Amino acid sequence: MKPARFDYHAPESVEEAVALLGRFGGEARVLAGGQSLVPMMNFRVVAPPALIDLNRIPALAYIREEAGMVLIGAMTRQRQLEFSPVIRERLPLLAEAIGLVGHLPTRSRGTIGGSIAHADPSAEIPMVLQALEGDVVAQGMRGTRRIKAADLFRAPLTTALEADEILTEIRLPVMPVKSGYAVEEFSRRHGDFAIAAIAATVLRAGDGCATARLATSGIGPVSARLRAAEAVLERDGLGAAAIEKAAKLAAASVEPITDHNASAEFRRHLTDVLARRALLRASARAR
Ligand code: FAD
Repeated sequence: MKPARFDYHAPESVEEAVALLGRFGGEARVLAGGQSLVPMMNFRVVAPPALIDLNRIPALAYIREEAGMVLIGAMTRQRQLEFSPVIRERLPLLAEAIGLVGHLPTRSRGTIGGSIAHADPSAEIPMVLQALEGDVVAQGMRGTRRIKAADLFRAPLTTALEADEILTEIRLPVMPVKSGYAVEEFSRRHGDFAIAAIAATVLRAGDGCATARLATSGIGPVSARLRAAEAVLERDGLGAAAIEKAAKLAAASVEPITDHNASAEFRRHLTDVLARRALLRASARAR
């Protein structure tokens, strides 16, 4: 299949790209790595009248640490994240998750901003954004604003980004050095989208647990935090019994979907199994 006819624009600045988006009244689509948008256009799932290509805006691709945050330009390739020492040392949860995103060729073109803006319910990067309580910067005709991860994902393939907004930056707090972390995923093959996945980070406080963060992918209609399970760990610590209780609570709190890959009941069962595995690995890593 081939896409329907479209106009092509290759702006050289974010301002120019935003003005073009505004000119098409939000009907145009932004092109990043093209790994999701182009197949959707080829199958005529979407037929935008114009494509606004961000690949000629070098200012949108960067990874830098600033005041306890890691700032990542939206056009940073997933492959760049995979090889970045800053990501490996400051955001090991993202470093672990990136290897699960698609395949080497798709990661070489696919971008972090595209994965977040596309908001596939089975994507790994939105799950990490949730688990690390990051936020994103969006720029549109009405200026620039920040959107917290908890407020960003509205429904499958739907975010809080306005039609005339471009996601320009992803902001993630540096993970505490002694954090434990783990991503556990169940998919048909390595590199496939998650049928169910859990990202976990924990921070010890003596024998207890100072913070626990759990987020999902592939289980419900959007990536979600498992706050009830987090509260149990922060109250009861990271012992086997507390992890068992948290995993059960995680499974009870999700609203799993049924699709051609798995039933809701099976996804609920996977939530229990993957949450337990992720918490056991994360607590073993936490120092
Ligand atoms: P594009 O495809 O260019 O754009 C995606 C959507 O986001 C479009 O609607 C576009 O308009 C919008 N968009 C892009 N950038 C911005 C921006 N800066 N501001 C506003 N809107 C924007 N992903 C996973 O998470 N896990 C997987 O296991 C996985 N497996 C894959 C396997 C294959 C074979 C393929 C082809 C893809 C797979 N993907 C997977 C998807 C891949 O990670 C894509 O890179 C990602 O979903 C979209 O990133 P992109 O840069 O290619 O965005």
